[in-house]
Amino acid sequence: MRLHDIFANITANDIARITSDLVCFDTTNPPGNERHAVEYIAELLKPQGYECRFIEHEPRRATLYACLKGSGERGALVLNGHVDVVPVGAGGWQHPPFAGVIEDGKVWGRGSADMKGGVAAMVVAAKAIAQANLPLRGDLVLAATAGEEVDMIGAKSLSSLPDAPTWQAVIISEPTSNRLGLAERGVFWTEITTYGKTAHGSTPELGINAVMMMVKLLSEFEKLEIPFQPHSVLGNFTRSVNTIQGGVKVNVVPDQCSAMIDMRTLPSQNHIELLRLLESFLTRMETEFPDLKAAIRVVHDLPSAETPYGSEAVQKFLAAAKTYCGMDITLVKVPFATEAAIFVPTLSVPTMIFGPGDPALAHQPDEFIEITEMEKAAKIYAAAAVEMLVN
Ligand SMILES: [Zn+2]
Repeated sequence: MRLHDIFANITANDIARITSDLVCFDTTNPPGNERHAVEYIAELLKPQGYECRFIEHEPRRATLYACLKGSGERGALVLNGHVDVVPVGAGGWQHPPFAGVIEDGKVWGRGSADMKGGVAAMVVAAKAIAQANLPLRGDLVLAATAGEEVDMIGAKSLSSLPDAPTWQAVIISEPTSNRLGLAERGVFWTEITTYGKTAHGSTPELGINAVMMMVKLLSEFEKLEIPFQPHSVLGNFTRSVNTIQGGVKVNVVPDQCSAMIDMRTLPSQNHIELLRLLESFLTRMETEFPDLKAAIRVVHDLPSAETPYGSEAVQKFLAAAKTYCGMDITLVKVPFATEAAIFVPTLSVPTMIFGPGDPALAHQPDEFIEITEMEKAAKIYAAAAVEMLVN
């Protein structure tokens, strides 16, 4: 039986070792330095017949596009994961963050859960599919990206590859504890700045206090109605004013004050319309308070992404997990933005977020991943590849 043979080549030892090796490459972003990690993955896939191509970003940064050629009758299945990690932060590490310690059935270290363990599970699944030598009706691609934690340069470059085949689906192995995420909220960060006029602190009547203008503005912003349709999985749109900076000295009237607002948007919302609404709010404030001058700047902009549950790719994925692995996959709300925010809007490709590891451990000290969870995920990736590319 095909699947049985493929599963025999997916071993816990192999996955644990690859995860551990990947953790040992320090890919803290910034600066990233992902090249050594993706070259290591390419060395594992090349002997299995994968054509490996590097998309260069900077001298020590690259994204890997590794392709096992199919007949082209169907679109490619893309197994995707990022190899950069967030900084270690201050203390609290029982196991050194870049040692890749394997202990108690877990691999420990920065990036183990987010998401080198998921990438390792995909690499082992990709190797096992190649070893089975099946006639593939579409390409099987392993895309290991740089830059996800900062600006998604890797995903952006993949979605604009000039000669890439059509993709039938993407599976992203971000940690979801092996549950399936189909939707995520958008990220829309803006900075509002108020401008005043400086004066000596003892003569405030000669100045215009930008901090006090910001106080007025933000108290009105709290009342501003921003329309949205609540989403069955994602819940509500949220906004939160999370930083504020103004003034230079206690005896100087401040002439500038800035506040950063974190907004998380839903599929029913459009960021261009949202920006227009905020701009017209500022214009209204300037009319109501003649001394007030304000400007807005977009700092980070990732749209919300959603793949329909009923889409063929999702149904095939669920059927493969059930039939070949005996797993009923449950749906989950993805609490963070993933590269789906690039793939879904630019390529209109069904994108599933499914990976081993507890999402609560992402970006935390003493991050770890359970080896059995990675093994399960790897088998599901392989089963999904057979369902989408062979059957
Ligand atoms: Zn991640």
